[in-house]
Amino acid sequence: MTNNCHILLIEDEENLAKALVFNLEEEGYRVTWAREGRQGLELFDAQTVDLVILDLMLPYIDGFQVAEKIRTISTRIPLLMLTAKTGAEDRIRGLESGADDYLTKPFHLKELLLRIRGMLKRKGWYRQDDQSKAGIKIGKCRVDFADLTVRSGNRTFRLTQQEGELLRYFVEHEGRIISRRELLENVWHLTAEIDTRTVDNFIARLRKYFEPHPSRPIYFISVRSAGYLFDPQNRGARE
Ligand code: CA
Repeated sequence: MTNNCHILLIEDEENLAKALVFNLEEEGYRVTWAREGRQGLELFDAQTVDLVILDLMLPYIDGFQVAEKIRTISTRIPLLMLTAKTGAEDRIRGLESGADDYLTKPFHLKELLLRIRGMLKRKGWYRQDDQSKAGIKIGKCRVDFADLTVRSGNRTFRLTQQEGELLRYFVEHEGRIISRRELLENVWHLTAEIDTRTVDNFIARLRKYFEPHPSRPIYFISVRSAGYLFDPQNRGARE
């Protein structure tokens, strides 16, 4: 199978990196390997990349800094972080620095391949988005799903791919209570690993973007012990 997708792998562990390059190429991906963060950023800048796999613990500059730099260049590039640590703080910091998803080492190759496939599929899915469903209004913000642009007054910014997919899921299930587990399964495609903090962290991001008062949400509403409810028309409460 050839799929012509180009993956940038930033990983300093040579044995792991070589095994990943071999297996990804077997899957039909084109892979560029960088041994450390600065080289990774140079390659990212110089080449057209479809997805980045980024190790957290790297010499010179760590994965957090690399992720932040990458996000200043592209908000849409799918970014998968590899972390050796099991601490939730690293994963949350990873997501905050711009990663869309993470895998904790050691991971199964099959899981990595499934994640990559999912991330690339969602990336393509935005491109084919049908125009009638392309825009949506949340409060004073207008979201264009075609390029994940958000316009609010004269401010314009872009959502990351993962933020966009989460928002899209809410839009498609407007007015229905959605559990964290459902979000993990359908937005992150995680079934085995139930870490609801990932979901909460992304909800916090959306609230920061769209809510007039993020600590008193009116669009992304928490429903105690049930999950979240998206109400873009804000029928429940008024500013
Ligand atoms: Ca490392």
